[in-house]
Amino acid sequence: MNAFHKLGLEDHLVQAVTDLGFETPSEVQEKTIPLLLEEDIDLVALAQTGTGKTAAFGFPMLQKIDINSRTTQGLILSPTRELCLQITNEMKLYGKHCKGLNVTAIYGGASITDQAKQVKRGAQIIVATPGRMKDMISRRLVDISKIEYAVLDEADEMLNMGFFEDITEILSHTPDDKSTWLFSATMPKEVSLIAKKFMDNPTEVTVGHKNMGSKNVSHEYFLVGARDRYQALKRLADANPEIFSVIFCRTKRDTQKVAEQLIEDGYNAGALHGDLSQNQRDVVMKSFRAKQIQMLVATDVAARGIDVDDITHVINYQLPDEIEIYTHRSGRTGRAGKTGISMVIVSKSEVRKIKSIERIIQKEFIKKEVPSGMEICEVQLKALASKIHDTEINHEIDPYLNDINSLFEDVSKDELIKKFFSVEFTRFFNYYKKTKDLNSPSEGSRSDDYAQDDNSARFFINIGSKDGYDWMKLKDFLRDTLQLNQDDVYKVDVKDSFAFFNTDNAHKAKVLEFFTDFKQDGRFINVEITEKKSRDRNRGGGGGRRSGGGGYGGGRGRSDRSKGSSGFRSEGKGRRSDSESSSRSPRRSSDFKPKGGDFSRPRKSRR
Ligand code: AMP
Repeated sequence: MNAFHKLGLEDHLVQAVTDLGFETPSEVQEKTIPLLLEEDIDLVALAQTGTGKTAAFGFPMLQKIDINSRTTQGLILSPTRELCLQITNEMKLYGKHCKGLNVTAIYGGASITDQAKQVKRGAQIIVATPGRMKDMISRRLVDISKIEYAVLDEADEMLNMGFFEDITEILSHTPDDKSTWLFSATMPKEVSLIAKKFMDNPTEVTVGHKNMGSKNVSHEYFLVGARDRYQALKRLADANPEIFSVIFCRTKRDTQKVAEQLIEDGYNAGALHGDLSQNQRDVVMKSFRAKQIQMLVATDVAARGIDVDDITHVINYQLPDEIEIYTHRSGRTGRAGKTGISMVIVSKSEVRKIKSIERIIQKEFIKKEVPSGMEICEVQLKALASKIHDTEINHEIDPYLNDINSLFEDVSKDELIKKFFSVEFTRFFNYYKKTKDLNSPSEGSRSDDYAQDDNSARFFINIGSKDGYDWMKLKDFLRDTLQLNQDDVYKVDVKDSFAFFNTDNAHKAKVLEFFTDFKQDGRFINVEITEKKSRDRNRGGGGGRRSGGGGYGGGRGRSDRSKGSSGFRSEGKGRRSDSESSSRSPRRSSDFKPKGGDFSRPRKSRR
C-alpha cells in the first residue's frame, strides 16, 4: 500500500501523487491529511512554504468536495497573485484525475470579467487574493455562501499586508458551519486573534517548532561598516560563483537601487517589488526560474510568491523591520530536501538583532568573515578550472587546431594553462588585489564610531521614540526628506525625546539648511551639529584598519582617498571615490567570455 493511501487518500488522488513523483508524505501532510479527512474540524497548522502544505490542505479538500456539483465549496485565500496562481496550479495537478473539477484563480491585475466567467462555469474551488475577492463579492460575481472549507494560507503574511478587514469581510459571507484551515509560518498575536475570532476550537499542528526555520538552512552573519554593505554583497556573490539567490531589502527603493547597481556591475540580477507592473514582475520571475537571473533582489511582500526550489542562498542585505519576517526570508532556501544558507549583512548597530532572531529560529548564527579579495580570486580560479574541465569539447574547433598548435609550439603545457587562466583571472585579481578588509571590528570595539570620523558629521535632532520613531523609521524619514541615498544616514541612535545620526561632511550643509525652518505636525524639528568626541580616541592607537585605509573610514568621499592611501586606484571615472566601488567590476568586461556567459548576461544599461 502506498504511503499516501495509508493517509486515507482515494485512488485517483494517489494516482496524481504518483504522477507527480512524490514518494513519501512530508511531515505536514502526514500530520494533517488524516485529521482533515476524518472529521470536519478547524485547524491551525504552523508550517512554512516549501514543506508541502498546499498538498496538506489540497488533497483533503479535493477528496471531500462534491465534484459533480458546480457549487463553490472550497475557498483558499492567499496573500499574493503569484501564490494564488501557484496554489491553483498545484490544485489542478493534485486534482488531475478528478473529472469535472474546476479550480479558479481570482486575483487583481487581470480581467475581472474573465474571472467572473470562469466562476460562473461552476468553480468548486476558488483560490483568491483578499482584495479581488472582496471586490467580486461586492459586485455579486461570486457566491461563497455555501462553502464548506475555507483555507487561510500564509495567514501571517496576509495580516502583515493589512488584509485583516478584508478577510473579516469575506468570511462574513461564508456559512458558520464551514471548516476553516489556517496555515501560517509564524504565530504572531494577530494570527492567534484570527484563530480565536473565526475558528471553533481549532486543532493545532506544528511542523518543527513554532516559528522555527527549516532545519536544512544554516544561518551566517557578516559584520561590516554600514557603508560597505554593497561591496560586501558583491564579495559574497563573487565568492559563490554558482549562487542562485534572493537578496532581501527593506524598501522598494533600496530593492530597485541594489538591483540596478548589480546589473550595472555586470551581475545577473533583477528586481522584484510592488512598484513594478505585473508584466515586469512576470518577466523577472520567468528569468529567475530559468536561472538567467542569479541574484533576485526583492522586497518581503513581493518575494512571497517565489516558488523556486533550488535557491542556494538567501541574503539579507538589510534585516527586516519585524524580525519574525526573517523566518519567511530564510525559508526561501533549504526547500524540497535541499540545503541552503541564509546570510545576513549587518552593521554594528544591528548586530543585537541577531540574538533576537536566534531565539525565534532556535538556531545559532555563525559569524563569518567577508571573504578577502585574494580568497575570492582563488574561488573564481578554481571554479573556472572545474568549468573548463567539465566543458564538452566543441569539435567545430578541430579544423583550426593545426594553426592554433603551431602558434603555441614554443609554449609548454604549464605555461599554456597559466596564460589561458590569466585571461579570466587577471580581471578578478586586478580588481581585488588591493581592496580593503570589509570586516568590521568585533562588537566590543569602538573603532567604527562614526563620531570620531573626520569626514563624518554627527547631528542631534529633537524627535525620538516618543514621537513614534525607532532607528529604522528615523533613518527612512531622514533619507526621504533629505533625498539622500541608502547608507548616507548612519549611526542612528534614538532616545526617548531626541536622537542622533551621522552623515558624511559632504551632506552637512544640506542637512542643516533643510532643517532651519522645518515643521512637522505644527512643531519645529531642530537639527544641530554635536561636538566631536575626544580627539585622543580619534587619533589614539592609530594603527590597524583605520590608518590602513580600510575599516570604517572607507566610505565614499574620504578625503584621504584621493591621496591614494587605499592603494588601489580606479581605472576610469567611477561614480564614487571608494576604490572597490568605483573601479570597473571584475564581472564586467571579458573578451574571452562567450555571450550569455555566467557572469554578465543582462549587460544592459541602468535605465
Ligand atoms: P508547498 O509547501 O506546498 O509550496 O510545496 C513545496 C514543493 O514541494 C512543491 O513544489 C510541491 O509540489 C512539492 N511537494 C509537496 N509534497 C511533496 C512530497 N510529499 N514529496 C515531494 N515533493 C512534494
